[in-house]
Amino acid sequence: MLWHQKEVSRVIEDLRSSVHGLSTEEAQRRLFEYGPNELKEKKKRTPFMMFLDQFKDFMILVLIAAAIISGIIGEASDTIAIIVIVILNAIIGFVQEYRAEKAMAALKKMAAPAATVLRNGMPVGIPASELVPGDIVILEAGKIVPADMRLIETAQLKIEEAALTGESVPVEKHTKALHDEHLSIGDRKNMAYKGTFVTYGRGIGVITNTGMNTELGKIATMIQEEEEVKTPLQKRLTVFGKKLAIAVMVICAVVFGIGVFRGEEPLLMLLTAISLAVAAIPEALPAVVTISLAIGAKKMVRQNALIRKLPAVETLGSVTYICSDKTGTLTLNKMTVEEIWMKGNSHLHPSTPSPLHLFMSALALSNDAQMDADGNVIGDPTEIALYNIAKDKGFDKEKLEKQFPRVAEIPFDSDRKCMTTIHRLKAEGLSPENRKEGFISFTKGAIEVLLEKANSILTPEGPKPIDKDEVLKISEKMAAEGLRVLGVAFREWDVLPDDILPDNVESGLIILGLAGMMDPPRDEAKEAVRLCKAAGIKPVMITGDHPLTAKAIAKRLEIIEDDAKTIITGRELDRLSLEEFEERVEHIRVYARVAPEQKLKIVKALQDKGQFVAMTGDGVNDAPALKRADIGIAMGITGTDVSKEAAHMILLDDNFATIVKAVKEGRRIFNNIRKFIKYTMTSNSGEIWTIFLAPFLGLPIPLLPIHILWINLVTDGLPGLALAAEPEEKDIMQRPPRHPKESIFAHGLGSHIIWVGLLMGFVSIFTQAWSIKTGHAHWQTMVFTVLCLSQMGHVLAIRSERESLFSQGLLSNKPLVGAFLLTSVLQIATIYVPFLNPIFKTEPLTLSELIFTLILSSVVFFAVEVEKLIRRKRHV
Ligand code: ATP
Repeated sequence: MLWHQKEVSRVIEDLRSSVHGLSTEEAQRRLFEYGPNELKEKKKRTPFMMFLDQFKDFMILVLIAAAIISGIIGEASDTIAIIVIVILNAIIGFVQEYRAEKAMAALKKMAAPAATVLRNGMPVGIPASELVPGDIVILEAGKIVPADMRLIETAQLKIEEAALTGESVPVEKHTKALHDEHLSIGDRKNMAYKGTFVTYGRGIGVITNTGMNTELGKIATMIQEEEEVKTPLQKRLTVFGKKLAIAVMVICAVVFGIGVFRGEEPLLMLLTAISLAVAAIPEALPAVVTISLAIGAKKMVRQNALIRKLPAVETLGSVTYICSDKTGTLTLNKMTVEEIWMKGNSHLHPSTPSPLHLFMSALALSNDAQMDADGNVIGDPTEIALYNIAKDKGFDKEKLEKQFPRVAEIPFDSDRKCMTTIHRLKAEGLSPENRKEGFISFTKGAIEVLLEKANSILTPEGPKPIDKDEVLKISEKMAAEGLRVLGVAFREWDVLPDDILPDNVESGLIILGLAGMMDPPRDEAKEAVRLCKAAGIKPVMITGDHPLTAKAIAKRLEIIEDDAKTIITGRELDRLSLEEFEERVEHIRVYARVAPEQKLKIVKALQDKGQFVAMTGDGVNDAPALKRADIGIAMGITGTDVSKEAAHMILLDDNFATIVKAVKEGRRIFNNIRKFIKYTMTSNSGEIWTIFLAPFLGLPIPLLPIHILWINLVTDGLPGLALAAEPEEKDIMQRPPRHPKESIFAHGLGSHIIWVGLLMGFVSIFTQAWSIKTGHAHWQTMVFTVLCLSQMGHVLAIRSERESLFSQGLLSNKPLVGAFLLTSVLQIATIYVPFLNPIFKTEPLTLSELIFTLILSSVVFFAVEVEKLIRRKRHV
């Protein structure tokens, strides 16, 4: 018999489990026996393969071949030196890539879904990979089903199984045994399968299969890793890099031709030309972008922003709108009931006794919050607030539930904005006057919604016809104080309704009263809103709450001033066509009473207007908007699996301020990538100009291959890397967002590369010409040192785009200072350590030569400082 054919009790028995779940020891044993609940992934690259990949580049292979040939014909020591430098370069590349890969693997692990499972009879959250057959798992809306399971309890459970069946309409599940053996997966309605997700309701299942034994495992024998997505910058750099490579090759060919024409040794010229090509072609740039983003993403976790998709780090800097949920993101999500209202007992303080009897019972019973083993109340904060006020008044949910057991329910959903539970009334009844058998339903939710379904209100004299306007006015007054107002209603039933559907059950209600609760805004959110505004980003609040509650909170956070035009409700939004809405969308700052589905319309409209949107979300229905947004942000604490899966980034602390921190960090990382590009490309262009132009001025080739490769190794290596550690510039959050389509060479980067490169070349050639003219035999060592140290000066000068190094503080990037010192010491060592002289073909400089060299080496530094001074003066 297959699992779906068996009765629940039989399934549990066959799996040697119980309704209380497995014990921890048994689960451990089974984990050992069945292995982790994971799908096999494509084989990872081993570190050795990663190292070998560093040599994949065509020009590197050509260089090695040329070096070997020249070693065979000429000096072997040159060949060895070149190969050692190439290996050192590969090691630097490998270490970076390995670190980046580790960082990404760690992030992926952190984003892996968890499951709620009964162990030793208590619910616990564990990583889904630790589930074993026999485990009892709790499912709720938004959960991704973590393994294959036979359902043993369902409450309106609906599951979307498109991943397995291709059918995107959610399937309603039940627990009854199905007798047909040959049912397709989609028809096995008492089963839930790994990789599908719960769209509605609740359920409990016992795991039948895990990992590769699941249906998903069977069809995906080898799940391919997610395709690596290139960021926009990487794509552009790849295209640009190809063009540049061709240009560099042409230049190198010319260098070779001219050298040979002038009678230089052909093999040496060949090596020189190839070394120059290796040094000047920025083939590693796209990889550097990945590495910077990955290392940056790792750092962002420490600030509670977990990146799921790497390109998000880059996009963050371009965000122009941050659309955030109110509850929990802008507010603390810690609610307390502050006001209660009942007809005839207007504005009762919660301590007022008896009239609240039925009301308090409703709050306690129509509630999914629960007390855990440690005495903490767990559940939705709205419900916790209601649970607590009821408990304080002596209405204990656990005790009441024994008396009035819940027999049916219609779960809360953000679209209906209410929920209903139905309870059996036992002989003693809830109050003396309704002491009879039967059922009572409690409905609680947004008051406007409840009023549509009600025709009377409970007063001390019993139910009376309702004055809906009066109730609305009172709720609006409470909402205007920033309170979240919930209406509560009831209805009695002699027999249970046939179909437990909203239309049948939630009608003819008798309103009991209102509960107003406060959810204080987060302290840090106000400052974050201010930062957003300064950075040219518009913060927008989206909430299911009442417009007046939303307005009060938005005002406190300074998201809006007093302008009613900046607020819109979900109902108005529905009435507007996309075009009409687009006319207004850029001015709206608060969306109230919206359903999650409407977030998609908001994202689309903003994007059509050319905006770049970050959008938060936590529920199943938020997923499409999160996917569509430029940055979809899921909540780490309250977010559902489905929303996390759809998001680009997860907020581990659910805090709005974290989004703003992430934006700042994204901007910093992007700026540092730009600085790295500025640095290496300027260096490369300096090297090219030096070697290319010297022969035209009648000078010999200024540098030997080993010099070119060495400069490339020491300057691109550590100092380049240390640029990634550059702290953010002071005004980073006072600049407007960067347009993602903007060229990398915008804001003077292109012209900087050209003019500073030329200057570097000019200084080197000047050094060469002058020292040859004045009879200095060490001219080559001087040129070698000037070119190397000029780049060191350059890296210090470009740490900021505008600020002077002296006001920035030399020590504010310690890794860079370290890299600067180390590189300079190594360079001096190549000149003064005797055994290095033959390897680097250098000679010790005299003191005056050294001083002259150092002075010339600092020209570039001062020139770039002057460039920044002009920028500051011109405010560009
Ligand atoms: P946000 O989008 O900022 O998270 P929200 O949490 O207020 O806003 P929802 O959770 O969709 O949005 O709630 C919408 C409305 O539904 C609330 O304003 C409230 O009136 C009602 N509501 C919320 N939680 C419950 C609940 N547990 N039971 C009944 N009604 C609820």
